[in-house]
Amino acid sequence: MNVLLLGSGGREHALAWKLAQSPLMGAFFALPGNPGIASLATCLTGVPLEDHDAIVTLCLSEKIDLVVVGPEAPLVDGIADRLMSEGIAVFGPRRVAAQLEGSKLFTKELCKAHAIPTAAFGRFTGVEEARAFVQHHGAPIVLKADGLMAGKGVIVAMTLEEALAGIDEVFAMGGIGTEILIEEFLEGEEVSFFCLVDGETVLPFGSAQDHKRAFDNDEGPNTGGMGAYSPAPVFTAEMERRTLHDIVKPTARALADAASPFRGVLFAGLMITREGPKLIEYNVRFGDPECQVLMMRMEGDLLPLLAAVATGRLEDQPVPLKPDAAISVVMATRGYPGPYGKGSQIGGLEAAETIPGVKVFHAGTRREGDDILAHGGRVLTVTALGGNVAEARERAYDAIARIDWPEGFCRRDIAWRALDA
Ligand code: ATP
Repeated sequence: MNVLLLGSGGREHALAWKLAQSPLMGAFFALPGNPGIASLATCLTGVPLEDHDAIVTLCLSEKIDLVVVGPEAPLVDGIADRLMSEGIAVFGPRRVAAQLEGSKLFTKELCKAHAIPTAAFGRFTGVEEARAFVQHHGAPIVLKADGLMAGKGVIVAMTLEEALAGIDEVFAMGGIGTEILIEEFLEGEEVSFFCLVDGETVLPFGSAQDHKRAFDNDEGPNTGGMGAYSPAPVFTAEMERRTLHDIVKPTARALADAASPFRGVLFAGLMITREGPKLIEYNVRFGDPECQVLMMRMEGDLLPLLAAVATGRLEDQPVPLKPDAAISVVMATRGYPGPYGKGSQIGGLEAAETIPGVKVFHAGTRREGDDILAHGGRVLTVTALGGNVAEARERAYDAIARIDWPEGFCRRDIAWRALDA
């Protein structure tokens, strides 16, 4: 099977690593890929992910059987529609179903129509109505701009003053004519739950928890994610059963009934509240760095599974996962998520991978001759498998100790919640 993987992050390196192990793999291309992926696939440059016509031409000329889409933006942009109209199989939903991530209003209305547990909400086009609603409900309360905001479209206001001040800010994020959401504040522990969905069939692909803040003790600014671990202890078999029954399956059914079946990975961001799991948000792709821990835990061949999702032939058999724990620690350039420098040299990558169960996935790196240089904010995800979280964590930090990169930093407390559990 000839495969094209779209994307360039640590998530895509992990997918490439797992896909490349498949005996079914034929020619393997990545667009644009990264130096880690380059050891597994042919990395192509010169075609931006926004250029759907050029991607179709590439697929036809390289006889691609399956396109695996890593990030959300091309899906929300309709890359799957375009490829499917040319008869090319694609792992990732069409534009309408991708609204689950692209539009919070779409998701909230779907939840309301199908009684899917989520925070109660109101939608507003006017500042005055929004202020009146906030005055009436008080704090804590959550304000959200609609659309893809790269993690910056949400204000969790703990006081009434913060909430009132945040209203203008959230309206400004969306631009003129925007509609905002105001939500009930949910209390509990957050968890990420992944399912492969081919329209009707929904297969659980494990749980994870991530760390969004830049620094230890969940302090500092929000980031794209500084680490993750899987499984999440809070997500018991009973929580999984309820989430599938009350949240994920009704969502898949609703989209299939509306003639816009979801095909791809559905990533449910959940709050485990006292009343049970409630949906915070959906994403329509794997998380980064959650994907890295899931790929480490997965047993068996990923390629036929993704192909079965793409062609609507998923069999109702669980995705085989090792009982082991996996942890992923992000190494970022000092300064991230603020301004940071590029071009510092990274050594010790091979030595890090000699530790049993350790794999270093590249994200923001660049190769220059034999050297690997930092080329982004989040640069590496050091990922380790172990018999339990403590062992996986020890291995990951032992590997980090072997990486020679003074300009990099990482959190030292990834998975603290699982260790305290
Ligand atoms: P963006 O649209 O900017 O990319 P996002 O998709 O990450 O943001 P959400 O996942 O909806 O936005 O919210 C971000 C974070 O805010 C959540 O991970 C959660 O911690 C918090 N949050 C969101 N909604 C609620 C809620 N109703 N109650 C409590 N916390 C919430």
